[in-house]
Amino acid sequence: MATLTFLGAAQTVTGSRHLITTRAGQRVLIDAGLFQGKKELRQRNWAPWTHGPIDCVVLTHAHIDHTGYLPRLVAQKLVKRAVCTRGTKELAELLLPDSGHIQEEDARNANRHGWTKHEPALPLYTEDEAWTAVRLLEPHPYERPVEVVPGVTVTFRPAGHIVGSAFLDVTLHDGGPERRVVFSGDLGRFDAPLIIDPVPPKPCDVLILETTYGDRQHPAEPSHELLARLINEAISRGGPLLIPAFAVGRTQELLFLWRKLEEEKRVPVVDLFVDSPMANDATDIYLRNREDLDPDVRDLLQHRQAPLSPARLVRVRGGRESAALLERKGFFAVIAASGMATGGRILSHLERHLPSPSTTVLLVGYQAEETRGRRLLEGAQEVKMHGGMVPVRAKIEQLTGFSAHADFAEEERWLSALQTPPQQTYLVHGEPKALVAQTQRLSGKGWQVRAPQPGDVVEL
Ligand SMILES: [Zn+2]
Repeated sequence: MATLTFLGAAQTVTGSRHLITTRAGQRVLIDAGLFQGKKELRQRNWAPWTHGPIDCVVLTHAHIDHTGYLPRLVAQKLVKRAVCTRGTKELAELLLPDSGHIQEEDARNANRHGWTKHEPALPLYTEDEAWTAVRLLEPHPYERPVEVVPGVTVTFRPAGHIVGSAFLDVTLHDGGPERRVVFSGDLGRFDAPLIIDPVPPKPCDVLILETTYGDRQHPAEPSHELLARLINEAISRGGPLLIPAFAVGRTQELLFLWRKLEEEKRVPVVDLFVDSPMANDATDIYLRNREDLDPDVRDLLQHRQAPLSPARLVRVRGGRESAALLERKGFFAVIAASGMATGGRILSHLERHLPSPSTTVLLVGYQAEETRGRRLLEGAQEVKMHGGMVPVRAKIEQLTGFSAHADFAEEERWLSALQTPPQQTYLVHGEPKALVAQTQRLSGKGWQVRAPQPGDVVEL
């Protein structure tokens, strides 16, 4: 029998790694994600790989919690082949070398401050090693089956999560009865403004389902209504509007809505700076990969409209331009990474403007525990930045309703395309509370459901 081993994103939301081993011993790794967040999780990235060489790695999408372990495996010469969609390869060219760069920087910092017991601290992988992994990636179109190893065929199908994101139709034809396995990857939302809806799944024997929002529903207030109100309030406060945002996905969604609000004259035309080279590159990747975009957005592009360009958008690239922006007075808006204000150019803008009551900081979406974003949201009077304490007098706002993940109702809508339930469903990529809620919901409908523990091996 072929088997499936749950190596990551089991009882947690990061480190997606699912290993298929065929009867003939071929190994296919679905996603090679980095564990992120708490130290106890991050340490798992350092555990030795004990599962032998991998014949093919298949990536569902470019987020680091699904791809960020690939350079580590490639550097150890453990990967023969790696496949993904075109959009995923293009985004991985931005994200993986950046991840390598961060690993190198962290190691340098640890050595400089003597934080490590083992001298010298080493990066998990370097920027160069990340480039080697990126070069290995073979891009494939959606909806066209690829035999990734003898006996295993994979079809990438649009998941509507970010550009290039796919869920996988996997067919096992390795001598036994043919089996169909679907890996949901990260599922996107229906009727999201920029990215297409997830396509419906086809019948399958086994389903591996993400459960990020297994216990939650997105708020009903449309995010563009809220954004319009918050922009107008920020303008009346007189100082800058600072928006920490992820470079890939979130920034492009904001630009799309912002332009639309301008066009509908619901916000005045103002100076808007995207101060992030990575976000600006990602915007170009979004515009190039039209098959991932909502039909309305494709239509705009067809008519030579620029759907991601508000009227007075400035794409800031160089460090000098970014530094000059810090001297600017009055109202203007800046979008910059990182999304939870844990690093990136947004920090300098925050440091400069948090002490002023005319400033507005708009946090977008979820802010994880122990991040600066979360502390601001919780009303901190001061935050630590670049070694000093910065007083917070700015107005802190949150834009809810922004998420690239389906909530449980949207997931239910996606699953409703299945006429009969899979023989077995495994819930992954969820925190324990979400896993319990989704297990109850699906087993209530008569489904066979389980939320595996890390290391569990099941037959396919
Ligand atoms: Zn994702």
